[in-house]
Amino acid sequence: MKLVDPVVYVENYDAKKMLKRIERACRTCYRSEDKVTENSYKKLLTNCISRGHESILEHEKISIRMICDVGVYKDLTRHRIASFSIESTRYCNYGKDKFDNEIKFMKPVNMDEGTEIYNLFIEGLEGIEKTYLKMAELEAKPDQLRMLLPHATAAEVNMTCNLREWKHVLGLRCSKHVHPAIRQLLIPLLLKFKEDMPEIYGTVEYDEDFPKEKYAKILPLD
Ligand SMILES: Cc1cc2nc3c(=O)[nH]c(=O)nc-3n(C[C@H](O)[C@H](O)[C@H](O)COP(=O)(O)OP(=O)(O)OC[C@H]3O[C@@H](n4cnc5c(N)ncnc54)[C@H](O)[C@@H]3O)c2cc1C
Repeated sequence: MKLVDPVVYVENYDAKKMLKRIERACRTCYRSEDKVTENSYKKLLTNCISRGHESILEHEKISIRMICDVGVYKDLTRHRIASFSIESTRYCNYGKDKFDNEIKFMKPVNMDEGTEIYNLFIEGLEGIEKTYLKMAELEAKPDQLRMLLPHATAAEVNMTCNLREWKHVLGLRCSKHVHPAIRQLLIPLLLKFKEDMPEIYGTVEYDEDFPKEKYAKILPLD
């Protein structure tokens, strides 16, 4: 068994290009295309967002790929305007060489290493893996094997949203009320979006007390 760290791979977008394309679409509403300058998108978008004129954000999208646990994607796939492609526990047999004959679990973000709770948790995962591999040896099918897998199982998840849905998802999922395994992934993503597109994401609130050392790495998507 292997414990893995969370990662968010982000598509290499050109924020200014996207925002300028949104501006062009938005100016159609007012037929004010003649007002476009190098940086006119900044004021226009800030004004539109502050008035709730957000549908213009649907013209552009961003894709990410995450390494996260089943619990995280169980929650995130509730977002109906997002698109997902997720590693399937119905098709992947972690008992095969291709997966190094082991199950990958996410490092628990909310348990301290060395504590009794942590040790018990790890023991539980080891027991699950032992049973899984024994069942795989007996040629159990992934459909049967997956019934053993816990929320902590690691998975690769592709998620694509338009810029409006990202604003909605990040606004909901970076707050204190959300499971820390989700905050761990999405707060650093929100911070990147805030830096690159302050006109859109500048006002989105998040749990500022979440420990920065637990943030997932943000890397470019290949
Ligand atoms: C802190 C927290 C706790 C939660 N706890 C639970 C829980 O215990 N149990 C549970 O089942 N779920 C829970 N959820 C999930 C939550 O109820 C939503 O299903 C999920 O967050 C998706 O959000 P959404 O419906 O706003 O948006 P999305 O599906 O992302 O849609 C975006 C927006 O589009 C609009 N929209 C989409 N579909 C429709 C529609 N059919 N009709 C009208 N408008 C629509 C809405 O304005 C919506 O906000 C929780 C979510 C959070 C953030």
